[in-house]
Amino acid sequence: MTNDPKFPIYLIDNYWTEDGKDGDRIVQHSAGLIMSSDVLDSAGREELIRRSTEGMLGSRESKNPDHMVTEIGFSHYETWYVRWFSHRTIDVGQTDEEALRSFEDFVLRTEVYHERRRYLGLPEDGDRFLMGAEDRWRWGAKESGDDMAPCRCDGCKKNGVLTIVH
Ligand SMILES: [Zn+2]
Repeated sequence: MTNDPKFPIYLIDNYWTEDGKDGDRIVQHSAGLIMSSDVLDSAGREELIRRSTEGMLGSRESKNPDHMVTEIGFSHYETWYVRWFSHRTIDVGQTDEEALRSFEDFVLRTEVYHERRRYLGLPEDGDRFLMGAEDRWRWGAKESGDDMAPCRCDGCKKNGVLTIVH
């Protein structure tokens, strides 16, 4: 068993419209997880929605800002959360060895979690996809995954996180 700290993970959904070729409007959607060091109160939720909406609007010109809807909902508590072929946790001062051991524990319990859901005939839980983290040889700090250590780059430091790429 593990005593690694678990943090609340939220799912943020963004919906917006884009102008189609024939003057029609196309509804688009994107979703992403975010980890918070504490349970978000309503002010914390508002702030997260504001930042998410700003970030989404900045990344594509064709969006109609009036039609942007952002929703945020609690997903689950965990030590690590999935991003695009990587996982992140909050940097609480772990050593590389502690972070890797924690990640190994996380991958094992997540594999059991998915196996159990399959056994019970429950739908897949996309919020907990491992995205290749099952393959230990992929773990690393950089995009090539060639360092067997969590990433502590400037970007990670700025966000107060550790990242394991896989
Ligand atoms: Zn990094």
